[in-house]
Amino acid sequence: MPRGITPRQPARTGRQDRVARGTFVRNRGKTLRLKTTANLPDAGKNSPQTRPEKRLKREGASAKVSSKKAAYNPIEPSRVHEILRRLDELYPDATCALTHNSAWELLVATILSAQSTDVNVNRVTPELFRKYPSVEAFAALEPEQLEPDIRSTGFFRNKSKSVVGAAKKIVADFGGQVPMNMNDLLTLPGVARKTANVVLGTWGKIADGIVVDTHVHRISRRLELTTNNDPQKIEQDLMQIIPRKKWILFSHQIIWHGRKLCFARKPKCVDCKLENICHAADKTWSTVEMHKDAKGK
Ligand code: SF4
Repeated sequence: MPRGITPRQPARTGRQDRVARGTFVRNRGKTLRLKTTANLPDAGKNSPQTRPEKRLKREGASAKVSSKKAAYNPIEPSRVHEILRRLDELYPDATCALTHNSAWELLVATILSAQSTDVNVNRVTPELFRKYPSVEAFAALEPEQLEPDIRSTGFFRNKSKSVVGAAKKIVADFGGQVPMNMNDLLTLPGVARKTANVVLGTWGKIADGIVVDTHVHRISRRLELTTNNDPQKIEQDLMQIIPRKKWILFSHQIIWHGRKLCFARKPKCVDCKLENICHAADKTWSTVEMHKDAKGK
């Protein structure tokens, strides 16, 4: 050893060394093994070395939480894709059930279908369109004159005002043609986004939005595609997660699903092909966990 160099002696406590559990230190010429965590230099009340079990527990818990979060996302693209795939299998040719031969007839039938059934409306409209064969014929009426013809569809006073009012505006402002864009349709009395989407999608094949009627409202919530209750917000939620090319078909498929299986009360879950990916709280039969917030209403 060169002169003037004195080897540094380890302190008794071993504090000078950054030692880890199970390592060895030299002390007074002897090799000592640090056996316990208490011997470790940075052993303190909250150090990981002092409370490994606590740390594991903490890390385990957070891992659990994050794995749970990562495990289920109802609007994950793969889940939405699977829902759409199964709907395609179930209802490949779903379309509007309202009988019509023109955009005007479809508009009238859609206005009449509010709070009514398509079957009910289809009973009324053939005779109605025979009696008043054009938009102009409706525009020449007073609402009271139309009331007896549509009474059986319910809410006939308001519906009469809407139909006659829409006819007058179409004749006055749109040359007798139903306008085929959302903004103009929304200027017609009695026409909100749902009706406008039906006319644009079914007659015009224009995907400007998604029809949110009572079935789409209920089933989108059951399938956890939305947590909203307001039809406009539901439509926005669906437009975010469903590819635009599917907007028209999707609403028809869901409407059919609501009519055939996914009833408001007592849905036929046992016969439903979406059953094992549906966690609705109001299911009547389930092979999967049900989520308390996934309710039709
Ligand atoms: S499983 Fe039941 S609640 Fe879910 S979509 Fe099917 S019918 Fe509706």
